[in-house]
Amino acid sequence: MKRYFKRNISSVDGETSSQYISQPSLAPSMPIKIDIIDLPSEPANRKRILDYDPNQREEIKRLYWQRGPCQPGGHLFPQKVIGSKERCFVFTWFKEYHWLEYSVKADKVYCLCCYLFRDIVGNQGGSETFVSSGFSIWSKKKRFDTHVGDITSFHHRALQKCEDLMKPKQSIAYVFQRQSERDKLLDS
Ligand SMILES: [Zn+2]
Repeated sequence: MKRYFKRNISSVDGETSSQYISQPSLAPSMPIKIDIIDLPSEPANRKRILDYDPNQREEIKRLYWQRGPCQPGGHLFPQKVIGSKERCFVFTWFKEYHWLEYSVKADKVYCLCCYLFRDIVGNQGGSETFVSSGFSIWSKKKRFDTHVGDITSFHHRALQKCEDLMKPKQSIAYVFQRQSERDKLLDS
């Protein structure tokens, strides 16, 4: 939906006031089509899901999950001194943790499913590290397991929601139709 900015002068108090006027859309309830190439693959360049149009969010999450986490192959992961040793991200960690994403820009890792559902599931279980600030203490790989946590963890719930995105679902209209058919049967 396009927005046009219009400036009005109030005749009552003489102050300038502003307001947005929305242009009516032909089909306002229809989700707007998103192209995967418009969604940044690099985790450091992404915006929050909440910053997208509410009509687009579900489709964006589905596209991100279908494309999979950002796991750059052939990248020379930079070394950095942690403690007394030089360490870097290890490519095979991608195989162990399929949700893991690596940002070339930040030299940090993130979690794709927690990124997609952070605003819905809530901020718990240290997910913030793997969503906003990123993680890069390569000597503490166990933190990946801590992030995953048990079956009730934030991560597990987010992962379940990602898998649900791929399931065919009943439309709300269909559910209402079935409900009203059932109510009619009960009334007769
Ligand atoms: Zn996660």
